[in-house]
Amino acid sequence: MSSSASCPTAAGSVHRSPQRAGGSDTDGRPLAVAVLGSTGSIGTSTLDVIAASSDRFSAHVLAAHTSVGKLLEQARRFRPAWVVVTDPAAAATIGAGSLPPGTRLAVGADALEDIVRDPAVDRVVSAIVGAAGLRSTWAAVEAGKTIALANKETLVMAGPLVMRLAARTGAVILPVDSEHSAIQQALCSGSGAEVRRIVLTASGGPFRTRPAETFAAVTPEEALRHPTWSMGPKITIDSATMMNKALELIEARWLFGLPASKLEVLVHPQSIVHSLVEFVDGSVMAQLSPPDMRLPIQYALSHPRRLPGPARRFDFTQAFALEFAPPDPARFPALVLGHEAAARGGTAGAVLNAANEEAVGGFLAGRLRFTDIAAVCRRVLDAHPFQDEPTIEDIRRLDAWAREEVVTWCAA
Ligand code: NAD
Ligand code: MG
Repeated sequence: MSSSASCPTAAGSVHRSPQRAGGSDTDGRPLAVAVLGSTGSIGTSTLDVIAASSDRFSAHVLAAHTSVGKLLEQARRFRPAWVVVTDPAAAATIGAGSLPPGTRLAVGADALEDIVRDPAVDRVVSAIVGAAGLRSTWAAVEAGKTIALANKETLVMAGPLVMRLAARTGAVILPVDSEHSAIQQALCSGSGAEVRRIVLTASGGPFRTRPAETFAAVTPEEALRHPTWSMGPKITIDSATMMNKALELIEARWLFGLPASKLEVLVHPQSIVHSLVEFVDGSVMAQLSPPDMRLPIQYALSHPRRLPGPARRFDFTQAFALEFAPPDPARFPALVLGHEAAARGGTAGAVLNAANEEAVGGFLAGRLRFTDIAAVCRRVLDAHPFQDEPTIEDIRRLDAWAREEVVTWCAA
């Protein structure tokens, strides 16, 4: 596990450059933040955080794929230096004069990579959904940026490569995923060698208590109704299958450099305890807060400092209870896939991620049943030509291969 004198951190050592935190290495100017995926759930929460601390953070880049209307609205409010639209057809609909004065438009994924590398960018919030987020995050790591990472798929697909690259370039990867943010905070209570295990909490999703024999009949509308979190559609379906927790196990494995045998999952329906770290003496440290992504986003932007912010707070005048229960992998077979891919490493994470992304698309489009998602992922994972030490090109090739396999399976 990576560690530093005062606190183990996710990648490299944040303490190498403490003056970068919270906006104080810029001669008083706010930190220039590139928000990749600004129109999504994490992106809009990030802009809430930036708006609440405009003396410390400014939205320097706003990037989205097709949601041009929302992007322009954000641009008018935040006056970034750049808006980037990665889908050229969507960019073509932007009329002359739609951008505020001082804001320039860039188009395409290549342009986004170039802008992310720009020395004027102080922090990158990686909040594009899915494998599409890998390229721009990779560019940010190559450029040695400090990255608030929501796009867990980057680490699921290419964890060892990304962490090695970060160690070489000095990039710092700070987790936005609430579980990993909680783990990062709890790890400060001991050294890496003193960690016995990490327990990722899971809400259990909307079907925690639903009879498993009815799972095949689950509709997209039912699966999109998450009990505790409001998120984008892909991760909401992943929460219903518990594939999200599977991906988070893999994310934690690479982010914290722990063997898969030290990673566990615990169901906690209230989503208040965001994860747990158990140390060798039996002490368990947790981070608690109401479910609100603005807190882990802000912590990743202000780390290692803490700032007042817009996230919801507890009302301790109201009684509340916290429940915990072990997960049931027989009901949620995605969990087994996650443990397995975390333990295998190599190309397993990339293949699982790609098969799942394609299968979730198939489910939302009515081509696959809910129960087919984990089933097709199992099939593709088992069938894939495993490589222990893939290159980034191998990973891209297998990502495409796994998607094709799912399409073929759907058509059969
Ligand atoms: P979302 O669907 O709400 O937003 C996705 C964003 O990515 C949009 O701005 C969209 O324009 C952009 N995008 C989509 N496809 C793109 C492409 N091909 N190229 C460039 N940009 C593209 O998603 P979200 O829920 O905000 O999730 C974003 C990421 O954060 C995911 O990796 C997710 O796993 C992770 N995450 C989300 C939450 C949450 O609460 N929503 C929590 C933890 C982690
Ligand atoms: Mg999470």
